[in-house]
Amino acid sequence: MSGLILKNVTLADGQRCNIIIKDNLIKEIVPAEQHCEKEQQCRDEQCREKQASEQQCRNEQQCEKEQQCGKEQQCGQEQEQYQVLDAEGMMALPGFINMHCHSAMTLMRGAQEDDFLKGWLDKIWKMENNLTPDVVYAGTRLACLEMIKSGTTCFFDQYRCISASSKAAQDMGLRAFHAYDFMNFFDQSVIEKNKQECREKYEESKEWSPIANFAVSCHAPYSVSKELLCFAAEFAAEHNLVLNVHLSETEQEVKDCIAKHGKTPTEYLDSIGYLSSNVIAAHSLWLSERDLDIYAQRGVTAVHNINSNLKLASGYKFLYKEMKQRGINIAMGTDGCASSNNLDMLEAIKTMALVQKAWREDPTVMTLQELMEISSANAAKALGINAGRLEKGALADLMLVDTTGLAFVPQISPLANFIYAANSSCIDTLICNGKVLMRHRVVEGEEEILAQAREYAKHLLR
Ligand SMILES: [Zn+2]
Repeated sequence: MSGLILKNVTLADGQRCNIIIKDNLIKEIVPAEQHCEKEQQCRDEQCREKQASEQQCRNEQQCEKEQQCGKEQQCGQEQEQYQVLDAEGMMALPGFINMHCHSAMTLMRGAQEDDFLKGWLDKIWKMENNLTPDVVYAGTRLACLEMIKSGTTCFFDQYRCISASSKAAQDMGLRAFHAYDFMNFFDQSVIEKNKQECREKYEESKEWSPIANFAVSCHAPYSVSKELLCFAAEFAAEHNLVLNVHLSETEQEVKDCIAKHGKTPTEYLDSIGYLSSNVIAAHSLWLSERDLDIYAQRGVTAVHNINSNLKLASGYKFLYKEMKQRGINIAMGTDGCASSNNLDMLEAIKTMALVQKAWREDPTVMTLQELMEISSANAAKALGINAGRLEKGALADLMLVDTTGLAFVPQISPLANFIYAANSSCIDTLICNGKVLMRHRVVEGEEEILAQAREYAKHLLR
């Protein structure tokens, strides 16, 4: 199988078309009528003929499971073979890109509720002492399953055991950036060991499949030695890698940094050469005017994590308007499930919009289109991948939203229905790198993934 045709799909602007995917890219998007008229292009006639004469279904097991034998046929023309997915009643959207998560923390979902950050961290760090590569593998697979079911095609992951997490994501077929994370709590004795491990993991990543990408991260300026911060920045620049950091998540963190360095966390990182257009800064919540100017000057991407910030009571005044005025790139993340409980990007952008509109007392502060950009195209730009837009030549990372349900009646604004009326259960199909990872909400191996995660979650509570 070398390609896919998404037949009679609707785009966000209401246009009906066929999306043709070849290998891992969107080869063409053509109006549905035109596509049907041109036999060579669309091969619909051949499909119908085959359906009538053969009732052919090459992938019977999959079709049986999904009860779609009658709907989806495979058709071929000479060398090229295309699988045709009937996308009638479906709206195609770019897959979400979750720009900040700690995926294996799915196994800590609900572990410490209704507590301040201090008590929360004590519990989480105690559990993290029991992490093994097997646990991380199980937790990351659970995370990928959840992301597939909620429309995410790519995520930026910052956690331990990246050999295990990258294997899990590759096995699940999701595009990801796996950051080697420095967090030495100023322990000088581990600095060289950490640097060496980062180099080794980078070398190892050259064997990963093209959907898995290596990245670098420093947990935060308050938990990482200056020497490692500088090393990470240099290493990222040398190898052209995305560089992550938790930045200005809490007001206390900013006060502590000013007391220690006489600078805000942003000013401090800038003074040591950490900030560049490769940097994605998670949270970016407590920023001064000067900090914002530095973000704009250096080309830093601000990654909002609204649900985590709300739940841990870190704050909610993300300076969207001020960032937009300065042309700062803005993306969205969910953070880990220990703090925000799920990895649902649709929920995250809805919450962001509601909070921004209420806080600013201004319903025009952000539009539906901006929310879509924040959840996909802006992130793709920061990661340097050609995704986040449905257009010819882009990576075939997309979702099909079932618009036949209650939340989509009437269809005055399909995007408004999607963001404000529906929830992620309306996401019917997920395609990543040209491969169908979910069809009619069925993901291969789901039961086994859940069973393994249930089992390994027990290891963390020992
Ligand atoms: Zn985080």
